[in-house]
Amino acid sequence: MNTEKPIKKDEYHEVEIEGLGHEGEGVGRVNDFTVFVPYALPGDRVKAKIIKVKNTYSYARIVNIIEPSKYRIDPACTVFFKCGGCQLQHLDYAQQLVLKRQLVIDNLERIGKFDNIKVNKTIGMETPMRYRNKMQLPVGNSRTGSINIGFYAHKTHDIIETDTCYIQPHINEEIIRIIRQWMEEKKITAYDEQTGKGLIRHIYTRIGFKTEEIMVVLVTNRRKIPNIKDLINTLTKINKNIVSIVQNINLEKSNVILGKENILLWGKDTITDFIGDIKFNISPISFYQINPLQTEILYNKVTEYAQLTGEETVFDLYCGIGTISLFLAQKAKKVIGVEIIPQAITDAKHNAKINNINNVEFYAGAVEETIPHLYKKGYMADVVVVDPPRKGCDEELLKTIIDMKVGRIVYVSCNPSTLARDLRILADNSYQIKEIQPVDMFPHTSHVECVVLITRVKD
Ligand code: SAH
Repeated sequence: MNTEKPIKKDEYHEVEIEGLGHEGEGVGRVNDFTVFVPYALPGDRVKAKIIKVKNTYSYARIVNIIEPSKYRIDPACTVFFKCGGCQLQHLDYAQQLVLKRQLVIDNLERIGKFDNIKVNKTIGMETPMRYRNKMQLPVGNSRTGSINIGFYAHKTHDIIETDTCYIQPHINEEIIRIIRQWMEEKKITAYDEQTGKGLIRHIYTRIGFKTEEIMVVLVTNRRKIPNIKDLINTLTKINKNIVSIVQNINLEKSNVILGKENILLWGKDTITDFIGDIKFNISPISFYQINPLQTEILYNKVTEYAQLTGEETVFDLYCGIGTISLFLAQKAKKVIGVEIIPQAITDAKHNAKINNINNVEFYAGAVEETIPHLYKKGYMADVVVVDPPRKGCDEELLKTIIDMKVGRIVYVSCNPSTLARDLRILADNSYQIKEIQPVDMFPHTSHVECVVLITRVKD
C-alpha cells in the first residue's frame, strides 16, 4: 500500500481557506488533502507551513496572509492570538453568525445526509461583549517571580497576563486589580502547579446579571489566608454589589479548579439571579448558564417550539438544575426533569420551591435508564425536551422516545455533529425535522447552540 501523503511536514504551501473547523480554525485543501490552519478565516489566502500530517488531515501554521478575507478585522483584545479563550475575535461579528449557521448546515449534510432542512439565521447578541457571568482566572508566578493572573494559552497551562477580557464584565478587572495589589502588598503567594506550593490558585467570580449581585471566590491551597480582612474590606468598599466572598479549598494537585470545601468569608453563601421570571440561588458549585441574556432567548425559543396549552406532560431530559423545566412548568400541566448529577437535582428541587412551582418532578439518574424505566411504569410525555452534553443523546433514549410516539420533540444542542447524527435517527423513525434555530451563546468562540423543532409524522 502506498502510504505516501500528498503533503509533508515542514513544507510551505499556499492555502485557500474554504471553511471553519470545530475549533474555529480555518480549513483548506492542498493537493486534495485537508489542512487545518488555526487563526485562518474562510476567504483568506495564506502561505502556511505544514506542522503535522495525520492519515486524513494535517495542521499548518500561518506564515503570512497573502490575501485576507473581507471579513477579517483587528481583534479588540491585545492577547487574542495567544489566549485560548476566544477563537473568532478577528472575524466580523455578523459574519461569525453567518458561518455558525453554515457549520450547522454542513453537519446536517455531511453527517445527517439531510439536504433541505430549514435553518434560520443565527440569533446573535446586539452587543457581543462582556456577556459572561462567570470568570475563572488562574493565578501563578511569572519567570521573574512576579504574580501572574490571566488566562491559559491555548492547550497549555502558561498563563497569559491580561488586564481586560472583553467577554467579561468590567467589574472583574477591578476585582483582579485589588486582589493583585493585596497579594503584592501582603506578600501572599501564588500557587505553583509544578511544586504544588503557594496559596492562591484561582480567582473565581459569579455575577447575577439581573440582580447585579457579585460573588468572589478565592480558591486556595491551604485553609489559612493571612490578612484576609484587608482584602474583604477593600472589596466590599469598592462595590456594594459584592455580596458574597467565599474561600474554596483545593488541596489536590490536579487541573480541577474547585475543591470540595467552601468557607463563607463574608456576606451570603449564594447570589440570586433570574432567567425570565424564574429565580435561582447560585453557589460556587452550582451549574448555571454562562450567558444569561442569550439563555433567555434560547429558552423562549424552546417555549415557542414546545407549543404548550397547559394540558401537556413534558419531559425535560438532561435538565441540569431544572432551568428549562421551571421555565416550561408555567405553561404545562406537568414537567418531569431527569439529570445524572444528584447535586443538580437537589438544586432543581430547591429552585422549584423558591419559585412556588409545584407541577414539577425531578429524578436523579441517567436518562437512558430512567426514561425506559418510567415508560414501563406507564409515564408518557406529550412533549420531550432534550439538552444533552456534546456527545449527544444516548441511542437507548432516542429508541424509547420513538417507542413512546411522543408528538413533539424540542432538541437543544451544543454540538452540530452529534445533533445531525441524532436527527438522522429520528428522521428514519417517523419524525420530521421542522426547523432549526441557531443561537449564539458564546460570541467570538467557535461554539454553536441550536434549538430544533421535531414533530411526529405518522403512527
Ligand atoms: N438543560 C440544562 C443543562 C444542560 S447541560 C440547562 O439548560 O441548564 C447537559 C446536562 O446533562 C448536564 O447537567 C449533565 O450533567 C447532564 N447529563 C450528562 N449525561 C447525562 C445522562 N446520561 N443522563 C442524564 N443527564 C446527563
